[in-house]
Amino acid sequence: MQKIPYDEILNIQRKVDIVDVIGNYLSLTRKGKNYFAICPFHDDHNPSMSISSEKQIYTCFVCGASGNVFNFVMNYEHISFYEAVSKVASNAGFPLSFKNISKVSLKDNKYDKYYKMFDIVNKYYQNNIKTVYGKEALSYLHKRKITDDIIKEFEIGLSLDDNNVSKLLKSKGYLESDMVDIGLCGKKDNFIYDIFRNRITFPLCDIEGNTVGFSARIYNSDDQNKYVNSKESVIFKKGDLLYNYKRAINYAKEKGQIIIVEGFMDVIRLYSIGIKNVVATMGTAITKQHAKLIRRLSKNVVLCFDGDKAGEKATISALEVLNDIELEPKIIRLEQNLDPDDYIIQKGKDAFLSHLKNLMSSIQFKLEVNKEKTDFNDYKEVSNYVNSIAGELEKIDDKIVYELTVKKLANETGLDVSTINSLVSNIPKKEKKIITKAKSITKNKYEKAEEYLIYYMLKDSKAILLYQNKVSYLSNDKLSQIAIKILEFYEKKGYINVTDFTLFLEDNNELIDEVLRIDSLNMPDDVDICVIKDYINTIDVGIIKREIDKLKEKISSEQDVAKKVVLLEKLATLKKKGV
Ligand SMILES: [Zn+2]
Repeated sequence: MQKIPYDEILNIQRKVDIVDVIGNYLSLTRKGKNYFAICPFHDDHNPSMSISSEKQIYTCFVCGASGNVFNFVMNYEHISFYEAVSKVASNAGFPLSFKNISKVSLKDNKYDKYYKMFDIVNKYYQNNIKTVYGKEALSYLHKRKITDDIIKEFEIGLSLDDNNVSKLLKSKGYLESDMVDIGLCGKKDNFIYDIFRNRITFPLCDIEGNTVGFSARIYNSDDQNKYVNSKESVIFKKGDLLYNYKRAINYAKEKGQIIIVEGFMDVIRLYSIGIKNVVATMGTAITKQHAKLIRRLSKNVVLCFDGDKAGEKATISALEVLNDIELEPKIIRLEQNLDPDDYIIQKGKDAFLSHLKNLMSSIQFKLEVNKEKTDFNDYKEVSNYVNSIAGELEKIDDKIVYELTVKKLANETGLDVSTINSLVSNIPKKEKKIITKAKSITKNKYEKAEEYLIYYMLKDSKAILLYQNKVSYLSNDKLSQIAIKILEFYEKKGYINVTDFTLFLEDNNELIDEVLRIDSLNMPDDVDICVIKDYINTIDVGIIKREIDKLKEKISSEQDVAKKVVLLEKLATLKKKGV
């Protein structure tokens, strides 16, 4: 998708009403000036999302999801920001002119050439496998029960044992340095060579469906490395993408469920037996970014990692990351150390489907895993087992599930139900995690001053100019990013208002949520410039105070007397500044 210029985005936003657009997706109730709806971005039971017709902004006061009309469509439909803009525009009867979009993309999208290079190479590989050189690779794939339809769908290809990719790209005018930067080629002693040689190639795509890397597998040699994968680059970050994401969006919506596997071969195998609501993490542990992408696909998550010890570990760490954003995945545990690909090949489709019908809860999974590790003749091990499970039991909200689990545990260990209950009740109750807006977190006056400064920067150019001239930096990373963006916006546009500024932030949900949270703070709108100067003074003092604290720490750990004296002198100067 190509970039759309800010002015065009603003133009469309002015022509549509967020209330109408969201009203097409959710049922709205009017209360006073605002409209309310059940928030689609968390498990909402009371209408927690408010939509302001005046500001053209939506905000959920429970999960903090917020943004402008395009952010809503983007997050609701799981599409890119530009796709959302284009969709809103055409639904409202103002389709974007192609001329406008393409003109900008040539100039503005600095990574466009990389996408084009991958596209050329991907097509080249796909063609190779259809030629006479591809015979052996094809028969290998067929033997692995990968049909021609699947080969086409997943754009599986073949790299030859030569350096044709670098030649091909060079002939099209691409630079060697770019080929090396994005990991398609390597360079040694001035000689440029192809990275993927004599391998079956599987393109890896970003969430918008652009090819950004390859995983390439051996098929007719006994090379030590079964797979060669693209190195990370500016457009390829493993932790930011899920294999098959784009294709899975609609299937996940249809099924109301998303299945997470470890490898792309698992995805392809599941796909080939008709299970298409599946994505893979590409052999890395689930990251926070993965978790967010998964939540966009569905709240109903099934983890189906490899059946070996490593898969077990990966499942436990995935549960942690997903629990953190309020997802409660179910689990499939495959027997005999098999991964889903091998499992389906060996045991067949029905065996896998029966797993899919009998999903485990995370508690069941942890019970089973811990139990297997325990020698029940060793009382110390039994004690460890029961204590580790007590921690899990404490998290069970459902009384019946709790009681059944306790009874099972009592049976297994020969302990009394009451003993287990008392262990559980002795665990200090953890505050149940709810995603609440940072509002409720107590902040010191320095942190508050930074927030208030941003609040006024979002409203008043005087505050922006004061920030520009007087503030060296903000200690809060997010706020500091916002301040820089406000400055950039103001310099380009010559004014500031919150809604237009969110359009400028495009798909940066994290910053938009924070901007709108700060904008919703209860502060007087008209303040004297002195008040803002006061905030800036407080911020300065806060910065010096932090420096002093850091210095004190250094001093206490410094062994060398001479160095200590230097640090102490520094401290004295800083203290003077702070007063
Ligand atoms: Zn919400």
